[in-house]
Amino acid sequence: MTDPGDALLPTYARLPARFARGAGCWLWDEAGDAYLDAVAGIAVCGLGHCHPVVTAAVREQAGKLVHTSNLYRVPLQEELAARLTAATGMARAFFANSGAEANECALKIARLHGHRRGFETPRVLVAEGGFHGRTLLTLSASSGARVREGFAPYAEGFTQVPFNDPDALRAAFDAHPDVAAVLLEPIQGEGGVRPADDAYLAAARALCDERGALLLLDEVQTGMGRTGTMLACQGAGVAPDVATVAKALGNGYPIGACLARGAAAEVLEPGRHGSTFGGSPLACRAGLAVLEVLEREDLCAQAAERGGAILARLRAELDGRPGVVEVRGRGLMLGIELAAPAPELARHAFAAHRLLLNVTRERVVRLLPPLVIGAEEADELCARLLAALADTLK
Ligand code: PLP
Repeated sequence: MTDPGDALLPTYARLPARFARGAGCWLWDEAGDAYLDAVAGIAVCGLGHCHPVVTAAVREQAGKLVHTSNLYRVPLQEELAARLTAATGMARAFFANSGAEANECALKIARLHGHRRGFETPRVLVAEGGFHGRTLLTLSASSGARVREGFAPYAEGFTQVPFNDPDALRAAFDAHPDVAAVLLEPIQGEGGVRPADDAYLAAARALCDERGALLLLDEVQTGMGRTGTMLACQGAGVAPDVATVAKALGNGYPIGACLARGAAAEVLEPGRHGSTFGGSPLACRAGLAVLEVLEREDLCAQAAERGGAILARLRAELDGRPGVVEVRGRGLMLGIELAAPAPELARHAFAAHRLLLNVTRERVVRLLPPLVIGAEEADELCARLLAALADTLK
């Protein structure tokens, strides 16, 4: 018998789970078994699965107006732009449908900025271990063999520098007179939950100011409250010229945004960039509902507090333990670096402990639970995770 999954291009190695419904931090499979979700659709369902406010907003909007295109004014798009820029300290927004698309917009702003400075091939400095998406431009800006291999020729104009190393950044500026921008993640997510030091982000800001370059921060994974502030850079006290968000902005409804301020908010003109679907009434209504809940329920603060408690407990249990290199992260973006690859851990946690977790860079357990996770659920997460790790590290 053929597997119905065979009709899909095999781009993912999937676990055998087939989920039927979700609520908060929980997913239920077709047999009715409950799983505790510490992945949240890869940092997408920040408000948990099927948050009632988002569900009601999407339902209502779907019955009223779904899409008109950007040939006309879209009041909900204007409202979301105003609310989102106010919450993030930015000035203007362009709406896309994914993180990669939001980053494409950021990179196009950087190139326009570079051309206006007279650079023939404007260069963007990117970090080793960085991940910015799967389009050809964003994979050219990313590192990691699995993301890049086989897709040459890569887009020109990117130079990789070691992450979290201000001297290397300064040296790259010194070596290349045509740097238009620096693109960084405040915490590298796919790259193994590696946080940038606040001092590194501040140094990147200062260098960009000194050399007339733009600082672009990819907050696709870190954004929308996950690390304890709306954008992670707000916690670091660093204001970028451009910040991108996506994932949790729609709590599962696809929407991304490229946010700009200062000179970076002035470079695009009508006709220079666009998106058929971007910023539809339906997508923006979802985004507005997410912002409303994040702000009303003070979920940034909750992410900081709950994440801090989970981090403390995991450190108390795992620091110094054979097989564990480091427990790290900020807010509810946490990583446990193991000494050896753990290819079966996610499958084992799923099958034996009904816990959904993700392993990135082969040996970093990545935890991205919904921001609404309760104190008891956080305890339960730690208990299931520690049990799964105990089985694996034996
Ligand atoms: N940037 C970062 C930091 C990400 O973590 C991701 C996805 O994991 C992306 C960009 C790409 O986002 P999308 O898959 O929505 O295109």
